[in-house]
Amino acid sequence: ATPTAIMVGTGLGAERGVLFKNAVALETSARIEVVVLDKTGTLTRGEPEVTDVITDGIAQDELLRLVAAVERESEHPLADAIVCHAEQRGLDRLHAEGFENVPGHGAIARVANRRVVVGNQRLARREDVDLGMLAERREELAGSGRTVVIAAVDGRAAGLIGIADAPRETSAAAVAELHALGAEVVMLTGDNLATAQRIAGRLSIDTVIADVLPSDKAAKIAELQRTGRRVAMVGDGVNDAPALAQADLGIAIGAGTDVAIETAEVVLMRSDPLDVPTALRIGRGTLRKMR
Ligand code: ADP
Ligand code: MG
Repeated sequence: ATPTAIMVGTGLGAERGVLFKNAVALETSARIEVVVLDKTGTLTRGEPEVTDVITDGIAQDELLRLVAAVERESEHPLADAIVCHAEQRGLDRLHAEGFENVPGHGAIARVANRRVVVGNQRLARREDVDLGMLAERREELAGSGRTVVIAAVDGRAAGLIGIADAPRETSAAAVAELHALGAEVVMLTGDNLATAQRIAGRLSIDTVIADVLPSDKAAKIAELQRTGRRVAMVGDGVNDAPALAQADLGIAIGAGTDVAIETAEVVLMRSDPLDVPTALRIGRGTLRKMR
């Protein structure tokens, strides 16, 4: 690339808050064929809110008190949503002991002398929790695009907490523009498949890779690269950093974590998904000027 073309491209990006950290990033942007986007905090706002509390054999407030006690010890965004909801309901706080964070699964602690397990289906399965009559409700909630948190008390399924995280306003338009640029658009998430598929469907995303453990996100990128195509990964979380590094082009959401921003080669300062196709277009423009 000529230094002038690179300067022009970098400048155009800067005007829109699209920061290319180096010349290679600008050139790679022009050649991206697959764009992988993290769901939570990238395609969605990352401001989850509790919408449903369903219980079996326990009062709603009692369940929320137990679950909030565990989640108060966790730093997960879903945990924040649950704790906030319990506070809004004015529930008194219980003390949690022996807190254990299970990455990509949930968390476990003892509260009021009971063992409280809070997390996804994978965790429920691992802990041998039978959902019983809650199984059907879980499917309904997930099918409506809610993230479902399962709570078990002393080994028994006690409740479901449905959590919604609205897509960012421009996510659908960003996907449409990426399609117009000829890219395949993939959603990558640790959330469950039914929830992810519902949200992906609304955004017209081509492919969903769900139920991915934090430690497996980079391997999923490598799998896509094995098809011989150049892959960009867009993410915001600590979890996303290895995938951002693995991708041919790592793109971080500006509102994301420091680790993601440091790892990525492109940073979207406005945290707007529409700036992903903008980055690709600026890259293509730069390449054209080079020839
Ligand atoms: P994502 O890729 O969506 O950012 P994570 O890998 O952090 O998600 O977590 C994957 C899944 O594990 C979440 O969707 C959730 O179901 C479950 N999970 C993780 N931590 C917690 C927690 N503290 N409370 C409830 N569920 C959790
Ligand atoms: Mg995220």
